Amino acid sequence: MLTDLKSLNLTELQEIVPGFKGREVFRFIHRHLKEKISDLTCISLSEREQLAEKYFISNLDIQKTSNEKEAGKVAFKLSDGNLVETVSLKDKENRVTLCVSSQVGCPVQCLFCATGKMGFKRNLTVSEILSQVYHFAKGEKISNIVFMGMGEPFLNYENVLAAARILNHPLGQNIAARKITISTVGIISGIKKLAETPEQFRLAWSLIAPNDGARGELIPSKYNEPIDKIVAALREYQRTTRRRVTLEYVVLKDKNDSEKDAAQLVKIAKQLDSHVNLIPYNPVKGSFYMEGNKGALFSYLKKAGVNVTIRQSRGRSISAACGQLAMHHE
Ligand code: SF4
Repeated sequence: MLTDLKSLNLTELQEIVPGFKGREVFRFIHRHLKEKISDLTCISLSEREQLAEKYFISNLDIQKTSNEKEAGKVAFKLSDGNLVETVSLKDKENRVTLCVSSQVGCPVQCLFCATGKMGFKRNLTVSEILSQVYHFAKGEKISNIVFMGMGEPFLNYENVLAAARILNHPLGQNIAARKITISTVGIISGIKKLAETPEQFRLAWSLIAPNDGARGELIPSKYNEPIDKIVAALREYQRTTRRRVTLEYVVLKDKNDSEKDAAQLVKIAKQLDSHVNLIPYNPVKGSFYMEGNKGALFSYLKKAGVNVTIRQSRGRSISAACGQLAMHHE
């Protein structure tokens, strides 16, 4: 079996191609986005031939591309035939944010989410995560990465972090750590591990509902951990990192948009250094959830002194908006 060079970090790569040449190979793969060993012209032809006996550089096939003005979506076909989707969103200043997938399907199974309905197939490899980004990076500069595509990133922690570090590497795409956000439904073990990483990766918590009862109904799986325990883990995370956390809150009619919900949300937001992002719900086929009253929630939170914004929904017409990918978190 050949080993995939794209999944290796610089240290691992230098065990195969030592020293300066290893750095160059890393740069050719992750900065110049070379997709074949034969294109690694930073090393000699015979070195390339030797390398190709044991190694390869994997890539993803494009199954389908959809575009609208400010959003694009690509469905990639993996080598085992599974599909994942990646979304690119452009803001008014033409900055590109990529919404990247970390798993095929998702084991968390939130009821309102199209990905959750697919069931869980498997984790993505480091290379499969990177290849989503590199597809878009060939055409334009990527400003931000959010792990909010298909899957729960903290249930594939090692590969997500390894990919994030390669994206952040100065010899690669060199995307600042604070421009890379990992969005979790609240997997406490992941929050604890992220607190110990030296990089400034950002963390977002997809709160979904402000009390355990309603949350348990919307997340009917073992990955639904108690809110007070998640808040405690986030407080600990903030004690060590001093990083602000985003609370994502998809607003669902009659599920989490009452005044009582708003009061509970304020209480949670105030226990943290947080920013609340209210997210319009994008109906997915076969779902009986409806978009909630985000305007009223916004006013309530604002009045209570909480940092709050409403996210603009882009990409609805191509099912690229949040929760529509056969997609995640929020
Ligand atoms: S919202 Fe996120 S955590 Fe929930 S099922 Fe969808 S992908 Fe998984």
